[in-house]
Amino acid sequence: MDDCLSHNRLDMGTKVIAVRVGSNKALKDFTVHEALVRKSSPFFEKALAQDWVESQSRIVKLPTMKPPAFQLYVQWLYSSRLYLRIDEKSKLVDRSKVIECCINAYLLGDYLQDIAFKDTLIDLILEWSSMMYVLQAAVLLTKDVYANTPEDSLLRQLLVDLSVWGISPYAWKISADSAFEFPNAFLMGVVTGQSKRLSDIDPSGVKETGYSHFKKIKGTCIYHCHRDGPCYKSDVQVDGKHSTTPAKK
Ligand SMILES: [Zn+2]
Repeated sequence: MDDCLSHNRLDMGTKVIAVRVGSNKALKDFTVHEALVRKSSPFFEKALAQDWVESQSRIVKLPTMKPPAFQLYVQWLYSSRLYLRIDEKSKLVDRSKVIECCINAYLLGDYLQDIAFKDTLIDLILEWSSMMYVLQAAVLLTKDVYANTPEDSLLRQLLVDLSVWGISPYAWKISADSAFEFPNAFLMGVVTGQSKRLSDIDPSGVKETGYSHFKKIKGTCIYHCHRDGPCYKSDVQVDGKHSTTPAKK
């Protein structure tokens, strides 16, 4: 009976560590259970297991990361939910902040090497892919993404594909009018993707739309980083620690 019960509980232990995120005025301290964060993030596992100064001081500093992104990470660690919600009635600028937080959280996940966190965020972005303003806001963050991710980043690929299948000519015009500078690698990806989209002819003669394209790939692991490892969605437990749904909206 004990085994049955303990199987579904978070194994957090009693030790906690401090994590100092950001710098100057944007600095914020967090407290997290060491066992929990080490189990999820190879970065924390390394920092706290070896003879690094962090393992002695019990403080891990992340000066280049954003506190709201880390807050989201802590909430996810303890609940496996992403507490990000887009309110259709809120102002465009507020919606953009939510999307920015989501992208920053992914960059944090990259830094912490937390694959399950990144894959959960990818699924949330895909859930939002039918909302045009989400696509526009996400694409405007390409500079940050390309500056902070490796060439084979699946977030880069997702942003390219969202642009190929979801961005309207009108939105591209707005970006051009505001002289927004996209990274060259991103533009090359979009041009290549558009060319492929035009040359791929469905034998049934039915033209694939952005809507049908994203409907087809939602729920798949195409943009997940786990590769041959287990998907976070397969780790379903009866207490809801891990859920098949990526986010609480
Ligand atoms: Zn997966």
